[in-house]
Amino acid sequence: MIAVKRLATDIIGLLFPELCNACGMHLYYGEKEICTKCLYDLPYTDYHRHRENRVAKQLWGRLPVDAATAMLYFKKGTKVQNLMHALKYKGKTEVGVKLGNLLGEKLKSSEAYKEIDFIIPVPLHPAKEKIRGYNQSEFIAKGIAEVLAAEISTTHLVRTKITESQTKKSRYTRFENMQEVFRVNKKEELANKHVLLVDDVITTGATLEACGNTLIEIGVKKLSIAAIAFAE
Ligand SMILES: [Zn+2]
Repeated sequence: MIAVKRLATDIIGLLFPELCNACGMHLYYGEKEICTKCLYDLPYTDYHRHRENRVAKQLWGRLPVDAATAMLYFKKGTKVQNLMHALKYKGKTEVGVKLGNLLGEKLKSSEAYKEIDFIIPVPLHPAKEKIRGYNQSEFIAKGIAEVLAAEISTTHLVRTKITESQTKKSRYTRFENMQEVFRVNKKEELANKHVLLVDDVITTGATLEACGNTLIEIGVKKLSIAAIAFAE
C-alpha cells in the first residue's frame, strides 16, 4: 500500500511538479517547499547564538528586548526574497510554516528563547489582512510553535489604525505614524509573561518598536523577537 501511495505521489509529481520556492527547481520526494540544496545554501545569520547581534543593536534604546534575532540576511534578487515573495504575495503559506520550523529549531538551541508563554505574530491591519486573505507572520509563528510547543495568540495584540505608505518618510516620521496603532486585549493574561514577537522581515524595526512597546507598557515581563529575515 505504501508503494502504491508513493507511486501515485511520483506520478502526480511528474504531471504537476512541485517547485522549490527559493530556486524554482523541481523538488524531490520528501522535500517540502524548499529544496535540500537551498536549505543548505541559504544565508543564515546565526544571530540566535549572539545576543549582541545587529537586530538587537538596531533596537537598542528603542525597545527593551531580552533577545532578538533574524534567521536570514535579506537582499533583493536573492533566494530569500523569492521565499518571502511566495509567502506574502503568492499565497504560499506553507513556506511560512517551513521557515518557522527552521527558525524554531534555531531558537530551541538557544538559552535565550526558553520558556516562552505566548508566541505573537505582528498583526496586520484587518483591512490589509482581508485583501491578502491571511497574515503571513501567523504561519511563521505556527511553524515556530510546532517546534517549541508554545502557545500562539492572535487575539491579544491587535492593530487599530492603518498607516499610510511608509517608504518615503524618515525614521522619525515613520515612528510617529506607528504610534497607537496597536492595542492589547485581555492585558492581565499577558502581564508577567514571556512573549515572543514574530515578524517576517525586519527593515527599520519601526513596527516592532511600536507593537513591542505596547506590550511592555501593559506589563509583559520579558519580550523576545524572532524574524525570518533582516534587510541590511
Ligand atoms: Zn531550491
